[in-house]
Amino acid sequence: MPDRTCLGCRSVLDKSSLVRLARGKDGLLEMDESGKFGGRGAYICPKEECLKDALRKNAFGRALKSAVSLPEFEFLWEGIRKSRAGRI
Ligand SMILES: [Zn+2]
Repeated sequence: MPDRTCLGCRSVLDKSSLVRLARGKDGLLEMDESGKFGGRGAYICPKEECLKDALRKNAFGRALKSAVSLPEFEFLWEGIRKSRAGRI
């Protein structure tokens, strides 16, 4: 099983415990649950702490080679929260 590093806490975890983030067709950063977006992706724990940590350290910018704005980040977090809520 391939391991990935969380952008926030830097934990190395199995791919399935992390959320893949990538830019979709419209260029917006989204959850890439099926890995279909391809291109440059980043992995993160679906936790607010990790997302905020990654944002503060500009880890998204480094991993994706493009800056992530605050509104974009909030939209992304909203999406992760909703998808998690649906699964519980
Ligand atoms: Zn993490």
